[in-house]
Amino acid sequence: MRVEDNFSAIKDRIRQACERSGRNEEDIKVIAVTKYVSSERTQEAINAGIEHIGENRIEGVHEKQSTINGQAIWHFIGSLQTRKVKDVITQIDYIHSLDRLSLAQEIQKRASETVRCFVQVNVSGEESKHGLSPEAVLPFVKELEQFDKIRVVGLMTMAPFTEDEQILRTCFKKLKDLRVEVSKLNLSNAPCEELSMGMSNDFEIAIEEGSTFIRVGTALVGEDS
Ligand SMILES: *Cc1c(COP(=O)(O)O)cnc(C)c1O
Repeated sequence: MRVEDNFSAIKDRIRQACERSGRNEEDIKVIAVTKYVSSERTQEAINAGIEHIGENRIEGVHEKQSTINGQAIWHFIGSLQTRKVKDVITQIDYIHSLDRLSLAQEIQKRASETVRCFVQVNVSGEESKHGLSPEAVLPFVKELEQFDKIRVVGLMTMAPFTEDEQILRTCFKKLKDLRVEVSKLNLSNAPCEELSMGMSNDFEIAIEEGSTFIRVGTALVGEDS
């Protein structure tokens, strides 16, 4: 399938999810997750009008940035090793995986401009998942106030891998509630207005529950190319 066709099908599904939940489709940004696919396929995504590209490895960011033509907004969505921050910090626009103080310290040390970050939350508590426990989020965000290079634009989560709509919905709702709590702290570097949630198999539910950035790989660009 051409990326263009996948994108238009996904936009239809976004529109419908917005209608069901009384939201504006302009408020949903689609990040094409290109971690499984080639630079050519990534180029196809950009040609199809996709503005946001997500990668979970530094090598992926470098490879794609060195080969593609055109503008993109780059999202780092994978877990980020502290010692590798310096290799990628000037190349990316958003980090979706801020989950520990040592990482924040390194970003502060290496960044030349403010970095837009999502705090990653492990809402479901699954051991295999990265991210802070929900209880740890407010104290963590308060600690981030000391780092003027970090701007907490929102919260990110990965839902459990399940078809059970109720489990998914509960997970997204919890992230949304937590976002409100963080924004109520009124910290100047943590407006926390965004929610990065929803992937190929659950983005419609995520949108119904308030997502503003969906991260779509398989359903948009495919799994390999
Ligand atoms: C791979 C990945 C995605 C995209 O997953 P799909 O199911 O292929 O849409 C989204 N978010 C993160 C953090 C990922 O690692």
